Amino acid sequence: MAKIAVIGAGSAGYHLAKSGHQVTLIDKSGFPRDKVCGDGISLETVQVLSTMGIYPQDLRQRIAEYAPIHRFFLGVSNQISHSEATTLEAYCIPRFVFDQLLHEKAIESGCVPLIQTIRENNGQLQHLSETFDYLIDARGVSAGEVSAIAIRAYWMFNRQNLSDVDLSEAQIHFDHHLGASGYGWIFPVSTQGEWVKLNVGVIVWLDESQKTNVIQLFKQFIQSNSQTRHLLSKVIHQDTPKVYPLATARKGNRVTDGNILKIGDAANLTDPLTGEGIANAVLSGLYVAQAINMSRSPEMAAENWQYLYESHFEADLRAGLRIKAFRKFSWMNTLLIWSMKQNPRIATQVSRTVAGLVPYHEVLSSLRY
Ligand SMILES: Cc1cc2nc3c(=O)[nH]c(=O)nc-3n(C[C@H](O)[C@H](O)[C@H](O)COP(=O)(O)OP(=O)(O)OC[C@H]3O[C@@H](n4cnc5c(N)ncnc54)[C@H](O)[C@@H]3O)c2cc1C
Repeated sequence: MAKIAVIGAGSAGYHLAKSGHQVTLIDKSGFPRDKVCGDGISLETVQVLSTMGIYPQDLRQRIAEYAPIHRFFLGVSNQISHSEATTLEAYCIPRFVFDQLLHEKAIESGCVPLIQTIRENNGQLQHLSETFDYLIDARGVSAGEVSAIAIRAYWMFNRQNLSDVDLSEAQIHFDHHLGASGYGWIFPVSTQGEWVKLNVGVIVWLDESQKTNVIQLFKQFIQSNSQTRHLLSKVIHQDTPKVYPLATARKGNRVTDGNILKIGDAANLTDPLTGEGIANAVLSGLYVAQAINMSRSPEMAAENWQYLYESHFEADLRAGLRIKAFRKFSWMNTLLIWSMKQNPRIATQVSRTVAGLVPYHEVLSSLRY
């Protein structure tokens, strides 16, 4: 049994405590706490969460703030759009609720929580790595390399003012002013009661525009997009939008820093095309636990975790980076949606890819045939 510290609570602690280790979960916040996010639980995330015993049918029954997703919508600047129904149900859930659930799972499995902010520059990380047998850094984007910036707002509605589609469709809008890779989203996140909540936001990548005023871009999105304008006419309450950075994938990534094992956004594991990071954050917790369980020393665990990262995450993240590099012009988004409208097979494949069911490297190989 090893003494392990995980900074940034979550899945790694759960798996390590389950496998018999003594785990301290250090986080600067107590739970529940807000995390700025689109709150989208992709089909891949649904699968990954089952490794922690979290299943949609339990959440549907237990959690008030929850929204099943049955349609995926892709559109470009009010000009062209496609909405694809899916029988494979993804869902959205506010991170305030979801992260609390993960935290509870980790505590139930035997982790000991500790509220403390860990700073790199005053030797605290070094001290922790000497005090514990293993140290996992899951501090999120604050420990990773920022590559994108996003803004999120919650809008409240009276349920009877929205249609069934409004309540079950995840919308992605490639509006021209957001660049080739940036997009706006409208996700229902709480649809079970009389009052419903939608998550509306915008994400842009910094490599496309260095001087990004994301607040301005968000205002432009909600004023110019026909779907947001339609919703604005019915909204009862809008909260103040919050801005937050992302750490998406990069080439030649190292997920270790000496003997410190980095996971999630701290290791830049977020999808470079969609900005989705929950699946890889949770999955990297499972793999880092395996790396520790199969090693006899921190040095060996670092080597094994880097190897597991390269064999299980890298191919897909690299394929995502290749697709992103190819999608240089915003007219490509129009072409993509036009192709979906022409060909139902492409429509299904693209929707499943956006929903996280088909890995990017499979999409790239299918294009070669
Ligand atoms: C606006 C926005 C929308 C997004 N939408 C989606 C989406 O719809 N679906 C999706 O899958 N992903 C989405 N993402 C990405 C997703 O939020 C992240 O990839 C994911 O949260 C990464 O998880 P993590 O555990 O690595 O980091 P985090 O969730 O950021 O957790 C880090 C933890 O570390 C703690 N911490 C941080 N610094 C310290 C410190 N110094 N000391 C101690 N503790 C510390 C924090 O309190 C926190 O609990 C979005 C991101 C943004 C910004």
